[in-house]
Amino acid sequence: MIKENLEKVRATVPDGVTLVAVSKFHPAEMIAEAYDCGQRIFAESRENEFRQKAETLPKDIEWHFIGHLQTNKVKYVVPYATMIQSVDSERLMDEIEKQTAKIGRTSIDILLQIHVAQEETKSGFTPDEIVDLIGKNRVAERWPHLRLRGVMGMASFVDDTEQWRKEFRAIRACHKALLDGPLKAQGIGQETFSVLSYGMSSDYEVAIVEGTNMVRIGTSIFGPRVY
Ligand SMILES: *Cc1c(COP(=O)(O)O)cnc(C)c1O
Repeated sequence: MIKENLEKVRATVPDGVTLVAVSKFHPAEMIAEAYDCGQRIFAESRENEFRQKAETLPKDIEWHFIGHLQTNKVKYVVPYATMIQSVDSERLMDEIEKQTAKIGRTSIDILLQIHVAQEETKSGFTPDEIVDLIGKNRVAERWPHLRLRGVMGMASFVDDTEQWRKEFRAIRACHKALLDGPLKAQGIGQETFSVLSYGMSSDYEVAIVEGTNMVRIGTSIFGPRVY
């Protein structure tokens, strides 16, 4: 089943768009099945589950963390994560910086999570907040271990294509505002700050039209989650 699902999804994801398989709440055996079909990038959203899976599954898996991360849990995630996509506060950036340095790792990839959805419960920086924060700090001095790779966001939990489109455009516009503004001024360009991570099972086809280059897909690969 996973094999067929994965093949179906792959057929709809164009070259140049990275497919991240969201395996949260699914057992290691299901991840192993996707792994056997060649999938190497997986994402998890809860720290303890993330750690357990990363410790037991093959070492050439590239793990992304995509859930809300509390600062006191950062130390458990940093040793295993290739990328933390859900970086949503200045405090969290400081803590990831600190823990990455502490374990002697040269750098860690992060995405800045941008809040564009209608729901208050979703986290992330507003576009103004993040442009302001990056404008006020020299990234290489304050966060020398963080590699800012791009932006991540989630559309509203509504069944409205036009709404998704509008929100995806807002994420993309924020990426551009950062590149053309405070990042350019610091010599950080499109070569490193290249990732636009938006699009999930329900809305990734719209996200692709709206220029995403990283989709995070769970349900369409692994089926519904049992919470
Ligand atoms: C769970 C999750 C996804 C995947 O959602 P599906 O609808 O199962 O594809 C993508 N991104 C984030 C941040 C998530 O938490």
